[in-house]
Amino acid sequence: MAAPIHLAYVDGPTPGWSDALVAGVADVFPNPIRASAVPLDLTPSFVPSRQQHHATLVLAALLRHRPDPASKILGIVPVDLFIPVLTFVFGQAQLDGPGAVVSTYRLRAEFYGLPGDEGVLVERAIKECIHELGHAFGLVHCAYYDCVMHASSTVDEVDVKGAAFCGHCVSVLEGKGWK
Ligand SMILES: [Zn+2]
Ligand SMILES: [Zn+2]
Repeated sequence: MAAPIHLAYVDGPTPGWSDALVAGVADVFPNPIRASAVPLDLTPSFVPSRQQHHATLVLAALLRHRPDPASKILGIVPVDLFIPVLTFVFGQAQLDGPGAVVSTYRLRAEFYGLPGDEGVLVERAIKECIHELGHAFGLVHCAYYDCVMHASSTVDEVDVKGAAFCGHCVSVLEGKGWK
């Protein structure tokens, strides 16, 4: 059976757009998907000198909340994430591993001085969640610009790419017994 996917809202209640996010992820992944709020103290991952949270530490803390050994857990956090070599990251995942994390901080239109737009936020969150889950299921970055596994370093690049795996990425996943 396909590994269950657990979407875990960290540091807040389950948002009103959760059903839309679950539906977007379910469009691509045949796996059982459930979503819930997970109480996780993000204080230990905060780095004062950068005023950001260390993505690797958030991920490590999140993995202690994984419901069962066969599942993948994807944390969704409102705070800004970084890894030491980069200014920020939209998300991070363990390649072929149990966990991933996505930050909505820079996916919000408000971050760019624009009026809030939940539709835009959800569309971006769906892509980044599918992207990080793709890594957790063993995919690396894809050169095809429209593929959801194409690397994005700006929100414009998130907007340009699609929300689905290209044929190559699907064949890699199928080779791993994904579905
Ligand atoms: Zn990536
Ligand atoms: Zn691809």
